[in-house]
Amino acid sequence: MIDNRIWIAGHNGMVGSAIRRLLQEQGQEVLTVDRAELDLRDQGAVTSWLKANRPTSIIFAAAKVGGIYANDQYPADFIYDNLAIESNIIHAAHLADVDRLVFLGSSCIYPKFAPQPIPESALLTGPLEPTNEWYAIAKIAGIKLCQAYRKQYGRRYISVMPCNLYGPRDNYNLQTSHVIPALIRKFHEAKLTGAAEVVVWGSGSPLREFLHVDDLAKGIVYCHDHYDEYEHINCGAGSEVSIRELAELIKDVVNYGGELTFDVSKPDGTPRKLMDSSKVTALGWRPEIDLRTGLVDSYRWYIEHAAGNVARSV
Ligand code: GDP
Repeated sequence: MIDNRIWIAGHNGMVGSAIRRLLQEQGQEVLTVDRAELDLRDQGAVTSWLKANRPTSIIFAAAKVGGIYANDQYPADFIYDNLAIESNIIHAAHLADVDRLVFLGSSCIYPKFAPQPIPESALLTGPLEPTNEWYAIAKIAGIKLCQAYRKQYGRRYISVMPCNLYGPRDNYNLQTSHVIPALIRKFHEAKLTGAAEVVVWGSGSPLREFLHVDDLAKGIVYCHDHYDEYEHINCGAGSEVSIRELAELIKDVVNYGGELTFDVSKPDGTPRKLMDSSKVTALGWRPEIDLRTGLVDSYRWYIEHAAGNVARSV
C-alpha cells in the first residue's frame, strides 16, 4: 500500500484509471488534473503545477499510445508527444522535490529478435521492431531519464515495463486500437449484422503476452512499495498466445458463429515478445486474472460503455 499523496499522470487512460480505482479502494489520497487544465507537453505549465501541488509520489501513466497501425501512421506524434511528456514530468518532478516516481514503458522497448523470454538486460542490445520504434525510442528515453535523475540526484525514480495490456476503458477505434479491443468490436458487430467472416490482420502467427490492466495496477503499486533500483523491471502475464488463438478465444467469448480470415497485407509486427518477469514475481507480485476471464470482463465493459458509440467513433 502506498502511504502518500500520489499524482496519477494520465488518470483517464486505461492504465491510469485502473491505478486510480485501486488506490481509491485502498483509501489513498489521489491527485489528478484534467488535460484541459494541464497540457503535459508544456514544460512551464507542468513545472508550475507540480511546484504548486507537490505530490509525494508520481505514477506516470500518461502517454500517447496506439496499436500497430497508429504507430506506423503517426510516427511524429508518437515520438514527440512521448518525449515531451516524459522530459517535462521527470524534470519537473525533480525541481518540485518529488522523490518517488514510477515510469511506465512497454515490452516494445526490446530488440525485435531479443532472447525469449526477454530479460531486462536485453535492453539496447539490437535493432527495434520498425512498426513501433518511434514509441519505443521515447519509452527508452523515459527509462534513461529516470536512471539519470537517480544517478545524478539520488532520486528514487523507477521504471516498470508492462507487456501488451487490455481491460476496461480500452480504445475501441479500429484505426488506433490494439488487437484485443479491435477483435472484440469486430466480432460483436459481425454477430449483430450476421456477417459471414471477420478479418484478422496479419498471418495470425505472431505471439503476444496479454495482461489485464487491473493486474498491472497491482503490479505498479507493488513495485512502488517494494522496488527501488536503477534497472527497469518487467511486469508481464508470463504466458503468450498466438493472434490466431486469441482470435478464436474472442470469437468464443463474443459467441460469434462465422469464420475467421487473415489479411496478410497488414503487418504482423514483432514475431514474439514474451518478457521474463521472474524479477517482479520474486518480489512477490503475481497476475491473478486469466485471459478468458479478462476477455469476458472486457467484453462486458465494451457492451456497457462503448458498443453504442462505436459507429460514431471511427
Ligand atoms: P503490437 O503488439 O504493437 O503489434 O500491437 P497490436 O495489438 O496493434 O497488434 C498485435 C498483433 O495483432 C499484430 O500482429 C497485428 O497485426 C495483429 N492484429 C490482428 N488483427 C488486428 C486488428 O484488428 N487490430 C490490431 N491493432 N492488430 C491486429
